[in-house]
Amino acid sequence: MNYFIDHKKKQIHQRQHAGDRCGFVETPVNKREFTDSAAYIEQLITQKMYSMCVYCRSVQIIIE
Ligand SMILES: [Zn+2]
Repeated sequence: MNYFIDHKKKQIHQRQHAGDRCGFVETPVNKREFTDSAAYIEQLITQKMYSMCVYCRSVQIIIE
């Protein structure tokens, strides 16, 4: 699974679900990061107060 990190808004998207509704359009390219490391995502959430994007998360719930 690939993640898309918005460092400006401190939000984490799932790359395959991320879209206009996620609101990262204003985030500059140098504040965007892609990773497939779940450990890194976990670290951002628990230590840096990042949060999962509600839109990407809801898509995942529907699929599951
Ligand atoms: Zn999103």
